[in-house]
Amino acid sequence: MKFNNIDFDTYLKNYPDEKGYFGKYGGSYIPENLQAAMDEITEAYFTICKSRKFIDELRRIRREFQGRPTPISHLERLSTKLGNVQLYVKREDLNHTGAHKLNHCMGEVLLAKYMGKKKVIAETGAGQHGVAMATAAAYFGMECDIYMGSVDIKKQAPNVARMKILGANVVEVTHGLATLKEAVDAAFEAYAKEYKDAVYCIGSVVGPHPFPMMVRDFQHVVGEEARAQFVQMTGELPDAIVACVGGGSNAAGFFSGFLNDPVDIYGIEPLGRGTALGDHAASLQYGTEGIMHGFNSIMLKDENGEPAPVYSVASGLDYPSSGPEHAFLQSIGRVKYDVIDDEETIDAFFKLSRMECIIPAIESSHAVAFGMKLAKTMEHGSILINLSGRGDKDMDYVIEKYGIR
Ligand SMILES: *Cc1c(COP(=O)(O)O)cnc(C)c1O
Repeated sequence: MKFNNIDFDTYLKNYPDEKGYFGKYGGSYIPENLQAAMDEITEAYFTICKSRKFIDELRRIRREFQGRPTPISHLERLSTKLGNVQLYVKREDLNHTGAHKLNHCMGEVLLAKYMGKKKVIAETGAGQHGVAMATAAAYFGMECDIYMGSVDIKKQAPNVARMKILGANVVEVTHGLATLKEAVDAAFEAYAKEYKDAVYCIGSVVGPHPFPMMVRDFQHVVGEEARAQFVQMTGELPDAIVACVGGGSNAAGFFSGFLNDPVDIYGIEPLGRGTALGDHAASLQYGTEGIMHGFNSIMLKDENGEPAPVYSVASGLDYPSSGPEHAFLQSIGRVKYDVIDDEETIDAFFKLSRMECIIPAIESSHAVAFGMKLAKTMEHGSILINLSGRGDKDMDYVIEKYGIR
C-alpha cells in the first residue's frame, strides 16, 4: 500500500535508514565513546537477532515462559451499550509481569547474553521497566543494575521490592529532583564506564539508534499476532486500531502489524489535567522539534528549551517526548494522534472493569477511553484496542484518589 508516496509494503525494512532516521526524526546525538557502544549494539542486532538460533530461542521463551500468543477478547457488553460498533482488545495485560514491556526486555537481554556481556543496565521511573528488566535478567542469569531516583524509590515500594526479590541491584540516584530524568543521566554515565561488560537496555522506542528500531522490532510480535488473530476471528481487518503512547513502544509494535493495511490508526497521548504546559504529557500534540536523550523528535520544552515538566495520571505515559517513528508517522499522516484526559481515563478504567471484568492499567485505559469515544462516532464496524497492561499496580491509587465509581 502506498501512502503519501511511502511504500508500506517495504516500510519495516526501509525505516529507519542506516543512520537510524525515520524521515528527519531519530538519529543518534550522543558522546563519541557512547557512539562506539551503540555501533556495537547495532552490529550485533543485525547479525545475532536475525540468526535462526536467536529467533528460535526468543520464540520458545515467548511461548513457554511469557504466555504468548496473548488472546484477543471481544468486548460484547461494552459494544452493545455504546451502539453498533464492535470493540475488541489485544490482551497484552496477560503477559508475564502484566504488560507488553517484557516483549522487548526479553529480546534486549537475550541479545546482551549472545553478545557475551555479563550485566544489563537500565533506569526506571515508576518501576515497570525496572521490574521487566529484573525479570529478564534473572531469567538469563545476568547481573542487573537499575537506576532509580530516591523520590521514585519511596513512591514505588512494591516495584522496588519486586526488583530486589528478582535479584536486581537498585541504585539510588539522589541528585537534582531525584526522579526519572536524573536516573536516565546516571544510567548513561554508568554505561559509558561499563560498556565493555554491560549493555544498556532502554524502556521504550526512544533514545539513540538502534533502540527505537530494535524495541519496535521486538514489539512487532504484538501487531503480527493481533492482525492474524483478528482476521481469523472475524474474517476481516478491523476498521480502526488504537494504542496509548508514552514513549510509544506498545503502540509501535501494535501499529507495525497494520501499517500496510486500509486501517485507521490512532495513537493516544495523555491530556492529564488540561492543555497548559505542565498539566499534560501530550508531546506529539503540543510539542515542537528538538533533541533530547540522544534522538531528534517532537518534544515539550520549557522556556529554556529544556525538556518541560509533564504530568499524567498514568506514570508510564509522563514522558516529555515520543519515539521518532511516531513523530514521523504523524508528519506523513499515516497515524492520527489524539488525546484523552484523566477523567475520561478513570471512567474507562471502571467501565472496562465493571462491564468486561478486565482491570486495565491506567496507561491502557487512555486507549480504551478513545476507543469508546470513536465507537460513538461510527455507524458500524470494528475497533481493536491494544490493552498494554493490567491495572493491579494502579488499584490503590485509583481508590485513594477517585474512590469507587
Ligand atoms: C510503560 C507502559 C506504557 C507506556 O510505554 P510505551 O512505550 O508508550 O508503550 C503503557 N502501558 C503500560 C501498561 C506500561 O507499563
